[in-house]
Amino acid sequence: MPGPFIPEKVYGIIGHPLAQTLSPLLHNWGFARLGVKGSYLAFPTPPEKLAAFIQAVRTLPVSGLSVTIPHKEAVMPLLDGVSDLARRAGAVNTLAWEDGRLMGHNTDVTGFLAPLLERGQAPETALVLGAGGAAKGVLAGLLDLGVSQIAVANRSLRRAQALAGTFGVRAVAWEDRAQVCAGLVVNATPMGMKGKAEGESPLPEDFWNPAHLAYDLVYNPRDTLFLRQAKAAGAEVVDGLAMFAAQGAAQFKLWTGLTLPMEEAERLLAQALGLREDTRS
Ligand code: NAP
Repeated sequence: MPGPFIPEKVYGIIGHPLAQTLSPLLHNWGFARLGVKGSYLAFPTPPEKLAAFIQAVRTLPVSGLSVTIPHKEAVMPLLDGVSDLARRAGAVNTLAWEDGRLMGHNTDVTGFLAPLLERGQAPETALVLGAGGAAKGVLAGLLDLGVSQIAVANRSLRRAQALAGTFGVRAVAWEDRAQVCAGLVVNATPMGMKGKAEGESPLPEDFWNPAHLAYDLVYNPRDTLFLRQAKAAGAEVVDGLAMFAAQGAAQFKLWTGLTLPMEEAERLLAQALGLREDTRS
């Protein structure tokens, strides 16, 4: 006799476009690896369909969603509430049900912080390069970590000033970025990314010294010029794949209560991207 019917839980990702996303690979692997009856699908959703999609989620049996560009801010007013961290970061990347309420969370911040927390010692000073969506999460995370002096530099100074004003940190002109003294240096620009920016770094080679900790949000390629030059000068490095895996693992935990095996998860993602795995110090 067949056993009782246990419905499979449905999860997914909304964004536009979604062709490059690694999230279905990560979560479906996690379900299989940990024996969870679940499926994670890609739901390409153009901006004009976002509100209707979220309304549909309230009636369809969707247990949780990842949210990516361009919906991370636009989705916030469509929810029943957002976490304190998501509010401070000004963006939501995860939806989960809590007591019948559709809530927004931000695991990009959790994911960014995970490799820093793993190191044990928080940096006292930080330089953040870039002032886009990712930089906002980075600043929220660094303030949570208790980093006392933070500077943000951006190609367009106005954007750096606006972000610095919101978070109460210092804005620096792009031309002056290499003069900033900071223990942690975060690349939150696409410079170094596969494609036309691959050979670029947001900092000159002679910037680096062994006291620096270089953290690149770019994860394809994994060993960006930014990280290669920092490492060659004796600095410690953290790559963007560690952050990507950690933000996904935090989503998985929110939805299932289970912990993904991180080394295996990073290996899976690196293999999927055809990346080398030797950048972590
Ligand atoms: P975004 O909102 O488009 O912001 C991009 C930022 O980079 C802007 O501040 C922009 O400056 C700056 N920038 C772009 N091209 C530049 C150039 N050639 N020279 C100098 N500055 C430049 O993008 P985002 O969402 O913040 O993402 C930034 C990077 O983080 C991307 O590479 C993304 O893949 C990565 N990321 C990784 C993870 C992860 O899990 N590892 C998560 C999120 C994002 P202007 O303001 O002057 O245009």
